[in-house]
Amino acid sequence: MMDIRTGQGIDFHRLVKGRLLRLGGVDIPSAKGCLAYSDGDVLIHAICDAFLGAAGLGDIGMHFPDTDEKYRLIDSMVLLKETVEMISEKGFRIINIDSTVCLEEPKISEYVMDMREELSSVCKINKELISVKATTSEKMGFTGRGEGIMALASVLISR
Ligand code: MG
Repeated sequence: MMDIRTGQGIDFHRLVKGRLLRLGGVDIPSAKGCLAYSDGDVLIHAICDAFLGAAGLGDIGMHFPDTDEKYRLIDSMVLLKETVEMISEKGFRIINIDSTVCLEEPKISEYVMDMREELSSVCKINKELISVKATTSEKMGFTGRGEGIMALASVLISR
């Protein structure tokens, strides 16, 4: 019998001046970037958590603790690659990924295709099966004030 699993992930980071804004493995010109122990790729962190949740493998903080020196400023693509390997070892294949990034600025729509390509190369699925959407919170709350960024991801996997 087919074992089909859904998983969801959510992540937040503070936005500060002088840090890089990297989303889905793509560097985006921005006055502010994510404050984080890693490179702060909030989108990849949400996707990793969605995969781990779907496979019943805990969460990103458990596998890649921010107390471990080896994860300082790490390229989050490395974390995604390791996560995909973990679920593959459990016999799962990825059916699709859907995601949303919520931030006030900059506009990220022109970078979405590059993000899908980057994610596709690590997840080893067609980019048609990977969705990255963007929204603002209409100037409300911490995302609306530009204090932070949020990403949500939902995945489907099967074995
Ligand atoms: Mg994070």
